[in-house]
Amino acid sequence: MNPELPIKDIYFQCMRCNACCSGQPGFVWLSKRDLMALSEYFDLSIQRFALTFCRIVDLGIVTTLSLKEKQNNDCIFLENDGCSVYPVRPVQCRTYPFWETILENEQSWIEEGKQCPGIGRGSLISSDRILDAFFERRQNAPLSIDEIAALAALRNNWDI
Ligand code: SF4
Repeated sequence: MNPELPIKDIYFQCMRCNACCSGQPGFVWLSKRDLMALSEYFDLSIQRFALTFCRIVDLGIVTTLSLKEKQNNDCIFLENDGCSVYPVRPVQCRTYPFWETILENEQSWIEEGKQCPGIGRGSLISSDRILDAFFERRQNAPLSIDEIAALAALRNNWDI
């Protein structure tokens, strides 16, 4: 076990059930890199991509962007055969369930397993893979209020 990780053996295998992308309200936060990759994928400007697929979320102390959801709370990019933007899915999605909050302790990992049937199954995950996921998330934080301010011209078109 890596001393930086509080949990001894971490087993995981994605079951492709899409439970993490559907069924209940949630947020998919977007880093600058996510916005650039997704807008390029759709051949849209960042502004046009954001207006079409994102919503502004005012959390009080911070305002940021999240992907829109369908009326049934599925991710806007979830289709019958899975994620329609899989090659450029946001860091938040790509690194799930290897988030520091989920891997904080045994209990948080077990709790997440109630939502995600892949937790506790499959192969033993190396500590390097998990630490890489932690690093990737830290390097690609959701847009800050200052970055959103750069998109200020869009604000008039959003209900916030
Ligand atoms: S909930 Fe877990 S097993 Fe299901 S698709 Fe998401 S990561 Fe995979």
